[in-house]
Amino acid sequence: MDWLHHLIWHDIVWHNDKLFGIQWSVWKVIGWLGNVTFSSRFIVQWYATEKSKRVVIPVMFWWLSLIGSLLLLIYALRKVDSVFIYAYLFPWIPYTRNLIIHYRHKKAHTDCSGCGNSCPPQSNFCPNCGARLMPTTS
Ligand SMILES: [Zn+2]
Repeated sequence: MDWLHHLIWHDIVWHNDKLFGIQWSVWKVIGWLGNVTFSSRFIVQWYATEKSKRVVIPVMFWWLSLIGSLLLLIYALRKVDSVFIYAYLFPWIPYTRNLIIHYRHKKAHTDCSGCGNSCPPQSNFCPNCGARLMPTTS
């Protein structure tokens, strides 16, 4: 098993005396944090879909998209790479818009006084317990 330790520790983890063979700097950390954050959104989305047995995009997906793409944009700007700057220059707009719409929609929900269920906007009755909902005064 010594060969396995050597393979993992010396050829992969500390390759050429560098962690994962990467010459680390603050910018590399920002870039890799962006990569990890941005790519983790697919795991979050896949998990949510498998869990509810239908295609779901959880709000965390948009947060991970926004934070990951902004970190990658910072890295791309630092590297002055036009391909990657363009790739991450605009996606924050739909990510932010989706988050605004999500929280606006969530705020428009009415809490049922009977069971505490969060009921969809313009509902007259609670879909959970059937109690009549009081119209929100705004
Ligand atoms: Zn209710």
